[in-house]
Amino acid sequence: MRTLSIFIGMALGAVLGLLLEGKTGGLARNLVFVCDLFGSTVFIGALKMIVAPLIFFSILAGLTSLPTRGELWNIGWRTLAYYLTTTSIAVVIGLILVLSIQPGKRGAREEVRAKWEEQRTELVKEYGDKEKKIETAKEQTPAEAIRDNLKQLIVNPFEALSTANSLGIIFFAVLMGIALIMVGDAAKPVLPVIEAVNAAIMKLTAWIMWAAPFFIFCLVASLLAKQGTQVLASLAWYVGTVIGGIAIHVAVLLAIVGIIGRRSPFWFLRGIRKAWAVAFATRSSAATLPVTMDCVHEELKVPRKVADFVLPLGATMNMDGTALYEGVAVLFLIQLFQGMPGVPMEIGAVMTVIIFLTAVLASIGAAAVPDAGLITMVLVANAVGLDAAYIVLIFPVDAFLDMFRTSTNVMGDAAGTVVVARYVDPEAVGWCGDRGHPPGEGGRSRRSIRARS
Ligand code: ASP
Repeated sequence: MRTLSIFIGMALGAVLGLLLEGKTGGLARNLVFVCDLFGSTVFIGALKMIVAPLIFFSILAGLTSLPTRGELWNIGWRTLAYYLTTTSIAVVIGLILVLSIQPGKRGAREEVRAKWEEQRTELVKEYGDKEKKIETAKEQTPAEAIRDNLKQLIVNPFEALSTANSLGIIFFAVLMGIALIMVGDAAKPVLPVIEAVNAAIMKLTAWIMWAAPFFIFCLVASLLAKQGTQVLASLAWYVGTVIGGIAIHVAVLLAIVGIIGRRSPFWFLRGIRKAWAVAFATRSSAATLPVTMDCVHEELKVPRKVADFVLPLGATMNMDGTALYEGVAVLFLIQLFQGMPGVPMEIGAVMTVIIFLTAVLASIGAAAVPDAGLITMVLVANAVGLDAAYIVLIFPVDAFLDMFRTSTNVMGDAAGTVVVARYVDPEAVGWCGDRGHPPGEGGRSRRSIRARS
């Protein structure tokens, strides 16, 4: 019922957003303000409030629940292999689509090229904050980008927590978790504390989610009211290619869940529907993390030792939707502006391979927040000699596409837990050869059973 109301909230929000689109009157402005207040300030703010401690304590809980060190290695390499494989598949799907559909050569191509300078000035005026970020990223060399990521990794953990720097939090939590395992008996008293804090954070998540249908209604309404739908029409081929690619990738993820994870794709979809909806509305994998955790623990019943480790890592570095979209966007811009200053003349095999590699890297480096993919796309553009100034063209539709890519990113993370769990804990109750929903006893992980007995 609650999930149904989330989707009803989403639909009603879309209706209100479309009604308010382009309206500048006092009432419309006030309504958008109120929607923004509840959607962004209250809902996203509340989710963000619990994300940093959640990442820290869930990784600690996951690591310290591992019976052997070998198991950490087992989960670790499988997780990374899954992330790299699915992200690569996503980019390949995007590249095949953009090269065969050629969205940049369709629609009002000549008109866009002729009016580009004029249009760019207008777009920069309207999306000045995004343009500034692109300009800053443009000046960065790949070596500097790596250095900056490293700077985020090795930091004071309190600073990482206070700035919600997930890379820094994960790195410290993994080190701390390993240290706690090595300390052995002396660390035993803190284990129940970690468990209790985790349970309390999930309780906070449930409180926030109680009003999720209303919050999601507000988010969708304010986004559509501000963005409008007219811009979608002018970039329809590009938008269609990205969404088409994402739909194919979602089908691939479901097939992976069925074939490799040996679970029913329908059961999986049902289990993650809340996280999917929240990701779609918030456009942030990080803000969605508490809800993803809740779905994966409570609905998919994935053992905690897998979920608590795979999900925070996935929210930070596994972004299939982002990778797919970055490859499509850069090739779309090259197709559209080919022959203009700062645009490569030809699209060849070498360029395609470079785009593939850099799109995977850029998605790993993207923060799990709205618009992050737009900024790291500069890395892909720079690598193939496309002047990043052309990215401005896709600003107007980016928030809309962010909804699709973020929900795919979150779905990819959740599918990863199912796949890794199948290998790491094949004996977990309800896992072996059971293709559907684990009923009753079958749904409980070995750990909770152990706790009961
Ligand atoms: N908003 C996306 C996420 O949080 C990242 C992106 O902009 O592509 O997963």
